[in-house]
Parts: sequence; structure tokens; C-alpha cells
Amino acid sequence: MTAETAADVPTDPSCLFCKIVAGEIPAEVVHTTERTVAFRDIAPKAPLHVLVVPREHQPDAAAIAESNPLATAEMVTAARAVAIAEGHDDYRLVFNTGAGAGQTVFHAHLHLLAGGDLPFAAG
Ligand code: 5GP
Ligand code: ZN
Repeated sequence: MTAETAADVPTDPSCLFCKIVAGEIPAEVVHTTERTVAFRDIAPKAPLHVLVVPREHQPDAAAIAESNPLATAEMVTAARAVAIAEGHDDYRLVFNTGAGAGQTVFHAHLHLLAGGDLPFAAG
């Protein structure tokens, strides 16, 4: 077992997404990898709205990128795998960072959005 495996990455027992990763709170999990778990958002804002989270607890995207680049890359490739599996070649990926930008859960998570008119357009 390496330092990257789920068993020995940092977690926070009080964190909602750590509890989902651990299976302690139910979620509709659609994809898992060594370093990530993807599950449907409880309040979808697009026809496909999935959250891809690292198994490691870090508060935001930059923190997981610094701590675990492999997990961060895997979040992006996992999102692509979910989008394609659900019939979407085109999709939007969003990291809200900080309460002022809409972040409500402080465990890094990548929003995968696809289908219809997508929210959070930057351009
Ligand atoms: P944020 O606003 O932090 O970028 O995104 C948090 C997301 O988590 C929101 O889109 C919200 O709907 C979703 N969410 C909050 N609580 C739960 C939950 O218990 N289960 C699932 N599946 N999604 C959740
Ligand atoms: Zn967490």
C-alpha cells in the first residue's frame, strides 16, 4: 500500500464529504478511482451534475493541488469519464473557492455540469 491509497490519506471525521467517501452518509456514487469518488449533487443545477471529490480531505482545490497533484489530476479525468459514460462529450468543470464565491462544503470538490443551459458561465 502506498501513501496515495485511501486508507492513509488525511480525513476529517466531521466533514460531510469525508463521510460520503467513507460510506457513512448515503450518496449516489457514480464513479470511483484510487484517489477520488464521484457522486450526484443532491440539488442538481444541470441535467448532469456530479461532484468529484478527492478521498483526501483538503479544504479547496488549490490545497489538494499542493498536497496531492495525482488526486487533483484524477479528479479531472474522473469527471471526463463520468461525462462520457452519461453521454456528454461537452461539459463544464467548476471549483468554487471560498464562501464569497459560493463554496459551502470545505472539502475540495469539482462540479461536473453537462446538458442544457449550464450555470456559472464565465464568458
Ligand atoms: P459548493 O457550493 O461548496 O461549491 O458545492 C457544494 C455542493 O454540494 C452543492 O452543489 C450542494 O448541492 C451539494 N451538497 C450539499 N450537501 C450534499 C449532500 O449531503 N449530498 C450530496 N450528494 N450533495 C450535497
Ligand atoms: Zn473532508
